Amino acid sequence: MRLSVVVPCFNEEQGLAGLHAELSAVLPTVTTDFEVVLVDDGSTDRTLGAMRDLAATDPHMRYVALSRNFGKEAAMLAGLHEAEGDVIVIMDADLQHPPDLIKQMVDLLATGYDQVVARRDRKGEGRLRKVSSKTYYKMMNRLVDVRLRDGEGDFRVMSRRAVDALLSLGEYNRFSKGLFAWIGFDTAVIDYENRQRQSGSSKWTLGKLLNYGIDGVVSFNNRPLRLAVWIGLVVTLLAFAYAGYVIIDTIVSGIDAPGYATLMVGIAGIGGLQLLFLGIVGEYVGRIYYEAKRRPHFLVKETSDPEQRPGPVVV
Ligand code: UDP
Ligand code: MG
Repeated sequence: MRLSVVVPCFNEEQGLAGLHAELSAVLPTVTTDFEVVLVDDGSTDRTLGAMRDLAATDPHMRYVALSRNFGKEAAMLAGLHEAEGDVIVIMDADLQHPPDLIKQMVDLLATGYDQVVARRDRKGEGRLRKVSSKTYYKMMNRLVDVRLRDGEGDFRVMSRRAVDALLSLGEYNRFSKGLFAWIGFDTAVIDYENRQRQSGSSKWTLGKLLNYGIDGVVSFNNRPLRLAVWIGLVVTLLAFAYAGYVIIDTIVSGIDAPGYATLMVGIAGIGGLQLLFLGIVGEYVGRIYYEAKRRPHFLVKETSDPEQRPGPVVV
């Protein structure tokens, strides 16, 4: 069995040595035939330099450097393209994904699974983040067609055919949590305790998280559009009923000027709804726009291979 470990890295200069040390301790206990594919996602620090050094001294280490920061999803994809193993591990560079779990996960995969996910708890996270994640996944699972679970992130082990399935999905907007669930296959789960980042800082900001959340909802179904239609229908019916009431009231008790408040609430309320739904439609149109361009997900600047394969990768 050949094992590939794919690690997307963005400004992880300080963490790479630690990661290398831990992986070098753990991976030989899993198999002798392994490779680590580091992906430099356009880091602005010395991450790429550190990767070059590692690749030069350790034949198990390889790297791909992207031409700029394309985001973790793209970096992961680049690594998966590059990985040659029959079993592929995806993990973060910051050691929040404990490498000593890899053996257990690979063993579990060998018992007949195509994906093994490590699920973390949310120990040590802020209350707000905990509560909002919980609510989000509850809502999400009502909205989308695939099942997503809290804590199941990108730390996973996959079989070659699962990775090939993933690579065959050519969409530009990649919400990998959803894609992992979408490809299906038998999936096993291992629980582990959340860890703090060893060095550097998290790349998630509140804004990024919110956008990620919206991506998740919009990438996987058209239910928000359907919801817009239903709410539009209900509001229209209410408006008709109210119009009927106003007409009858005018006939029965004559013309009466008051109603400023109702008018304003109506205008503002419906105006707000219209903008919201226009936004939802816009989200989908925007996605079509990106898909239609068919740009590559990432560009490769440099790899550790002597006979380099730079240039765009179109999936
Ligand atoms: N990452 C990346 N490109 C980005 C942002 C992050 O490749 O644009 C990598 C990062 O180096 C790390 C992993 O994705 O290995 C997870 O990032 P981070 O630790 O910031 O996320 P968190 O653990 O806070 O969810
Ligand atoms: Mg992290």
